[in-house]
Amino acid sequence: MKILVPVKRVIDYNVKPRVKADGSGVDLANVKMSMNPFDEIAVEEAIRLKEAGSAEEIVAVSIGPAKAQETLRTALAMGADRAILVQTDDEVEPLAVAKILKAIVDEETPGLVILGKQAIDDDSNQTGQMLAALLGRPQGTFASKVVIEGDSVSVTREVDGGLETVKLAMPAIVTTDLRLNEPRYASLPNIMKAKKKPLDNKTPADYGVETAPRLKTLKVSEPPVRQAGIKVEDVDALVAKLKEMGVA
Ligand code: AMP
Repeated sequence: MKILVPVKRVIDYNVKPRVKADGSGVDLANVKMSMNPFDEIAVEEAIRLKEAGSAEEIVAVSIGPAKAQETLRTALAMGADRAILVQTDDEVEPLAVAKILKAIVDEETPGLVILGKQAIDDDSNQTGQMLAALLGRPQGTFASKVVIEGDSVSVTREVDGGLETVKLAMPAIVTTDLRLNEPRYASLPNIMKAKKKPLDNKTPADYGVETAPRLKTLKVSEPPVRQAGIKVEDVDALVAKLKEMGVA
């Protein structure tokens, strides 16, 4: 079985985003970029399935600028076998990403596609679901456990009330939640080896997908600054203060 893992290059999760002075978006100049954390979990899960003998090949794919190659090299250094970069400088929205991924799935016929549950830049939480709909295949989103059982995959999902387990006929789409696993770091020898692994260069046009945005960003602004808190002596003082503020 082949596993396809889409990985997105996003602003590093440790960086505090700054809004551009003209309010047109987030300032990405000289900002550290990394693989979307949920996608690292997806790569890790694919590697564990391969190590367990459930998969033979892991293909990583990224849709984005030339620099997204670095993200793919990270996936290769972690343990993916080959990579596809679908290069574009446009901002590609989840529907267009899902359409490109569908075309790649049609070509590569993986048994599983493991995506992150959301990209931490747009927080859309849409691509996996849209891909499953376009392919007409089952989906198991927010996975905290993935077990291959013959031609099916059993996915334990993190839902509001606790955990839900669903059994999906493969080929299937899975999206990862935070507790699924702890991704490994790529070792130096593996980073060196990853440089020699195959990386295909494509464009959205190669897959016949139009990436022009359907949404227009009107304005991006910083969240309101939080007021400093105050300390009260005891419960009576707290109640009095809440009454004074009109909230009790
Ligand atoms: P989103 O729906 O944008 O929150 O993204 C959910 C998941 O879809 C991510 O965690 C990735 O696995 C995948 N994805 C989204 N955008 C891209 C992209 N440009 N390139 C590769 N994978 C992507």
